[in-house]
Amino acid sequence: MTIKAFQVSGNGVYAQDVPAFAAAIQGAEVVLFPGNSRVKRSVPAAALRAGAAVDTNVVDLALEGDRLVAQRWAYRQRILTTFTRAARPWAVVVDPSLFADVCAKLGVTAETLSVDASSSTRTTVEGLVAAGAGGESTIKPDSPLLFVAGAGWTKKQADGALHLDDAADAIKGFLAKSGASLGSSKSLVDMPEAAAKFTFMSHMNQVGQTGSTPRHAKGLSTCCHGEEPHVVGWRFVNERRAVNLDANCGWAQGKADVLYVADAFEVVKKLNEML
Ligand SMILES: Cc1cc2nc3c(=O)[nH]c(=O)nc-3n(C[C@H](O)[C@H](O)[C@H](O)COP(=O)(O)OP(=O)(O)OC[C@H]3O[C@@H](n4cnc5c(N)ncnc54)[C@H](O)[C@@H]3O)c2cc1C
Repeated sequence: MTIKAFQVSGNGVYAQDVPAFAAAIQGAEVVLFPGNSRVKRSVPAAALRAGAAVDTNVVDLALEGDRLVAQRWAYRQRILTTFTRAARPWAVVVDPSLFADVCAKLGVTAETLSVDASSSTRTTVEGLVAAGAGGESTIKPDSPLLFVAGAGWTKKQADGALHLDDAADAIKGFLAKSGASLGSSKSLVDMPEAAAKFTFMSHMNQVGQTGSTPRHAKGLSTCCHGEEPHVVGWRFVNERRAVNLDANCGWAQGKADVLYVADAFEVVKKLNEML
């Protein structure tokens, strides 16, 4: 495996840095950069240009046979994850204070990245390739109501089947009619099934300890268990209601004012008919 490393310092100019980083990554196997602000600003765009995978905030790298294994922290320094990637080129951004040690450990000497400082820094529009239709944002900080969708929407229901299309229709219908802002649990936004079907939500909708802390006056939670790491994100939401099949869910433990022990599919469908 060929591992290259580039030393990058100073300020740089984004428009000049991106092609230089892309050229360094293009055609290589693994390329290491120190994770300073200059690198972090330009490497994502450069990796996209070079068709490379990119990982940031890496704290350690080790060769295990023919695999290069990386480590980085997740959950705000609570869990240390160890992973590798088959994708090539692979741009690895190492924490700047550890860059020299990681290079030494791998026996790689960092070259200085050559940047063409004479090239123009002005953007010229060469034409419009495709204007995306764009989607309506489901995050509405000014709405009086927060509507939270949890992972229950993607679980097998009483008939033993999944109802992802019905779930998507119910959630979208409620948002359109009520004007509520959409929040989500971490379990839901992390789920690949949800990413495929619930295209109106992303990690940006996640509420909780490792998500957002919105400030809506009221909140309605559906199909979400109401576990503490999620509910801490509700600390500014004073009027709280939840719909859950489980009478012993977290919301019942003093976390909601009213818990409706009911099927959220039926409740939200009925609400949409009434609104
Ligand atoms: C360090 C750390 C940080 C975390 N940060 C966050 C965070 O920021 N945000 C977050 O959300 N989570 C966070 N979590 C995860 C959190 O602990 C829970 O795992 C997560 O919130 C569970 O999501 P959920 O309630 O949607 O899913 P589940 O726990 O799977 O609950 C699904 C619920 O849906 C109900 N249900 C199913 N079908 C129906 C139906 N038809 N009608 C009504 N109810 C139904 C079930 O009874 C169940 O209660 C974190 C965890 C850790 C360890």
